[in-house]
Amino acid sequence: MYDIIIVGAGPAGLTSALYAARANKKVLVFEAKAYGGQILNASKIENYPGIESISGFEYATILYNQVTKLGVKVKIETVNRILPDKTVITSKNEYQAKSIIIATGAQNRKLNIKNEQEFIGKGVSYCATCDGNFYKNKIVAVNGGGNTALEDALYLSGIAKKVYLIHRRQEFRGETTYLNELKTKENVTLILDSTITCLNGQDYLESITIQDKNQSSQELKIDGLFIAIGQEPNNQIFSNIVDIDDKGYIISEDGVHTKTKGIYVAGDTRVKNLRQLTTAVSDGSIAATMAIKEMN
Ligand code: NAP
Repeated sequence: MYDIIIVGAGPAGLTSALYAARANKKVLVFEAKAYGGQILNASKIENYPGIESISGFEYATILYNQVTKLGVKVKIETVNRILPDKTVITSKNEYQAKSIIIATGAQNRKLNIKNEQEFIGKGVSYCATCDGNFYKNKIVAVNGGGNTALEDALYLSGIAKKVYLIHRRQEFRGETTYLNELKTKENVTLILDSTITCLNGQDYLESITIQDKNQSSQELKIDGLFIAIGQEPNNQIFSNIVDIDDKGYIISEDGVHTKTKGIYVAGDTRVKNLRQLTTAVSDGSIAATMAIKEMN
C-alpha cells in the first residue's frame, strides 16, 4: 500500500513526489516513457523565476535527481486503468494507494496529413532539441505559432542553413520576445497565413506543399520538418474516475480536485488557462499538499 501514487514524471508529477516524499509519505511514480515530459523539448527555459537560463533536459534531470534522492521510485510502466478504490492497473501489475495524482501532461498534436506517420524519423520530427543536430547546414521548416514553434525556430536557426517558420495565421500565440529575436535572424523566413497540405518524398521527406489563404499552393524543398502545433491530452482511460472536457482535458474543482475523492490532477493535463512550467510545478505542490491533508 502506497500513500500516494503519481501518474506521470513530468514537472507536475515530480513536484508532487517531492512534496509528498518530504512529508514522509510512501510514494510511487509511474512514467510511460522517460522522466521530464514535454519540458525535455525546451532547448532553453528563461521564464522560470530564479533561474536565468537552463535547458529543459538539465532542469528535468536536476528535478528527477532531487526526487529520487529522497527515496521515491519512478517505475517505467504504462498505467492502463485506475479504479475508484485507488487500485492502479499497469502494463505489468496492480498497485494500491490511499491517494492518486494524475499528472500525465499531453502528447504532441499531429497534422494528420498523408505521409506524416511514415516520415517520422525520416525528415519529420516533433522535437527540435532532440533531432535538430541531424540538420546541420540543411534546410528545415517549423510549423506552428506558439512558444514551442518560436523556440524551435530560434534553436534551429543556429544549426540549419535555412529555417522556414510556417504558421496558419498572421498573429502568433507565442511570446513577442521570441518573435522579435527570430526577426533578427537572417536565415529565418516567416511564411504566414499558410498551412501544410502535403508531405512529399520517396523514402524520406523531400518537400512540402503549402497553401495560403487564397488557396494558392507552392512546393518548398526542405530536408526536415519540425511540427510544433501544440499538445493533446490522452485521458480517455481515466473517464471512469474524472470528468473530461470536449478537448480531452480533465475538469478539476479548485485547481486539483477531481470528482473522485482522493484522486487529484496536476499540470498540463487539466483544464487551465496557462500551461507553463511555473503552473505545472504549482499544481504539483498543491495536489500533493491536498492529498496529504485529506488522506485518511
Ligand atoms: P500552443 O501554444 O497550443 O500553440 C500551438 C500552435 O499551433 C498555435 O499557434 C496554433 O495555431 C497552431 N496549430 C494548432 N493546430 C494546428 C494545425 N492543425 N495546423 C496548423 N497549426 C496548428 O502549443 P505550444 O507552442 O506547444 O505550447 C504549449 C504550451 O506550453 C503553451 O502554454 C506555451 O506557452 C507553453 N510553452 C512555454 C514555453 C516557455 O515559456 N518557454 C516554451 C514552450 C511551450 P493558432 O494560434 O492559429 O491556434
